[in-house]
Amino acid sequence: MTPENPVAHKSGFVAVAGRPNVGKSTLVNRIVRAELSIVTPKAQTTRNRITAIHTLPDAQLVLQDTPGIHEARTPLNRSLVAAAEKTIEESDLVLFLTLPVPAIHGDDRRIIDLVSASRKACILAINKVDTLERSLVLPVIDIYSKAHAFEEIFPVSALTGEGMAELEAALVRLLPSGPSLFPEDEVSDLPTRFFVAELIREQITTMTGEEIPYKTGVMVESFKERNGHVLIHADIHTEKDSQKKILVGKQGQMIKKIGIASREKIEAFLDLKVRLELFVKVTPNWTRNERMLKEFGY
Ligand code: GDP
Ligand code: MG
Repeated sequence: MTPENPVAHKSGFVAVAGRPNVGKSTLVNRIVRAELSIVTPKAQTTRNRITAIHTLPDAQLVLQDTPGIHEARTPLNRSLVAAAEKTIEESDLVLFLTLPVPAIHGDDRRIIDLVSASRKACILAINKVDTLERSLVLPVIDIYSKAHAFEEIFPVSALTGEGMAELEAALVRLLPSGPSLFPEDEVSDLPTRFFVAELIREQITTMTGEEIPYKTGVMVESFKERNGHVLIHADIHTEKDSQKKILVGKQGQMIKKIGIASREKIEAFLDLKVRLELFVKVTPNWTRNERMLKEFGY
C-alpha cells in the first residue's frame, strides 16, 4: 500500500476463466513472474483452484484459475463447473481467455453465459496471437464484441508477452480501491501439498498421455521436513486395475520414471532435497464420490 495515498491503492480477486489449453496458467505465470500453476501442453491439468498473488506498488491482484467449464455429465465435471461458477461469483473482475478463432466455441458461450449471469465486469484476452497474422485478429475481436459487453478486449500472447502490459494495466484499473489482501511477500495461498500433487499429476500426464491422468487423483498423505530434506508420501488413486497396471508399468518401470521426474520437479520447486514415495491404489469410483472429490480439492 502507498501510505501517502491509500485511496489510490487497488486490490481484488480476478477469476481467470477459459477452456482448457487456452493458456490460463501461462498467462497467470507471466503476470506473477513465477512458475506457480502447472503449464502443460495437455488439457485438464489444473483441476485445483490455483491462486496467484501479484503485488505491485499501488495494487494487489489475486488471480484464481478456474477449472474447465464444459458439459457437466459426471459428478466430477459438475463439480468442476460449480467450482468455476463459485470462483466467478466471488471475484471482483473476470478475465476471460480465448483463442484467436473467428467463431465462438460452445464452451466459450457457456463461460459468457456464466459471466453475464454473474453481472461481473469482464475483460477478454484473445491469447496466442503470436500464432497468426495481425489482420486475422480483427474479425475475432468483432465477433466477441457483439457477443457480450466486455469492458475491454486485448489481443495478447502469454508466451511472448505481447499485449500483456496493457492487459495488466486494465486489470488494475478495473479493480476496486482497497488495501492489500495478503502479505506482500506471499505469492500463493495454496498449501504446498497442492502444488506437490499438481507436479506429480503433471508428470503422470507427460509419461502416460491424456487418458490416464484424467482418471487419477493424487493426494499427498504426508509431508515431513527432516534435517534439510523433505519426506513426501503421496497416493495416486485410479479407478480400475487396468489403469493401475499402466501407471505401475512392467516391473514398476513407469511409476519409477514418474517418481524420479516428479522428485526433480518438486526439489526445484521447494529448493530442498526430497524423498518421494508414491503408491498407486485402486479406489473404484473415486471420481463419482462426493467426499473424495472434496478431499481432492475440487
Ligand atoms: P491452460 O489449460 O488454459 O492453463 O493452458 P496452459 O497455460 O497450460 O497452456 C496450454 C498450452 O498452450 C501450452 O503448451 C502453452 O505453452 C501454450 N500457450 C500458452 N499461451 C500461449 C501463447 O500465447 N502462444 C502460444 N503459441 N502458445 C501458448
Ligand atoms: Mg492450466
